[in-house]
Amino acid sequence: MKQEVEKTVCKIIVMANQKGGVAKTSSTRNLAYSLAEMGQRVLAVDFDPQTNLTISFGIAPATVKESTASLMMKMLMDEALPDKDSYILNIGRVDLIPSKKALTVAEVNMLIERQDDCLDKLLSPLRCDYDYILVDTGPSLGSLTINAFTAADGIMIPFDAELFALVGLKELTDTISKIKQNLNPKVEITGIFFTKCSKRTTLYREISEQVHAAFGHLHIFESRIPATVKVGSANSKGLSVMELDAKNEAAIAYMNLAKEVLANA
Ligand code: ADP
Ligand code: MG
Repeated sequence: MKQEVEKTVCKIIVMANQKGGVAKTSSTRNLAYSLAEMGQRVLAVDFDPQTNLTISFGIAPATVKESTASLMMKMLMDEALPDKDSYILNIGRVDLIPSKKALTVAEVNMLIERQDDCLDKLLSPLRCDYDYILVDTGPSLGSLTINAFTAADGIMIPFDAELFALVGLKELTDTISKIKQNLNPKVEITGIFFTKCSKRTTLYREISEQVHAAFGHLHIFESRIPATVKVGSANSKGLSVMELDAKNEAAIAYMNLAKEVLANA
């Protein structure tokens, strides 16, 4: 008799934009928390040697033994991985694989050895444990980001209107197209979302119109994350903005973004 097994499909979503300061890390942190609040099993992965995501979870990188840095080195050297309890930290409802500065060493080795699938090999076996795996990346389109794109099902692009980075957005989407052709046919751009939106300026409206005109073929999320100092203060306290102030408008916006992600991705 055919068995009806309900299978939840894990999505690996990479937060990417080669521009620094557009809220990749803040969005990974708060989207991870929001999705977990909605009952999803979530793993956040710090794949940036700057370790900001790790810090935003209240973890001091110097105190962690295993990290994306050590795990990537083991992958590159074909060494067996340690037990997953040794590298997955449980922080409230969200699990985290932290990072260390030494991830830059792994990046150089990935480049020299042309290894694009180290992160994919680490995360694929973890798919059965989670509904969403969110990967934070650094401000470059180097080997680490290429590894992240190779592991991804979807890529979410935070866009900060104030920084006017339309040219960068074109470079990013062109790079993703190349990854799709050559390395990872399943990868899709989940969507672009606006961060650090200020109500005071007309700049946001103008830029938003330009993004819609140039990238209207891509999904653009309805939820916009407003600019508020609470996001930065939550990060520095190791909290999500919802835990700091659930009524804050950025907290509400991230919950709405999570609802859209659940509906779309
Ligand atoms: P990235 O990871 O893309 O470099 P971060 O998430 O580290 O970006 O954010 C860059 C800076 O912007 C940080 O100082 C952060 O506190 C701040 N920031 C992020 N989101 C917001 C927001 N909604 N409003 C105001 N400041 C924000
Ligand atoms: Mg960051």
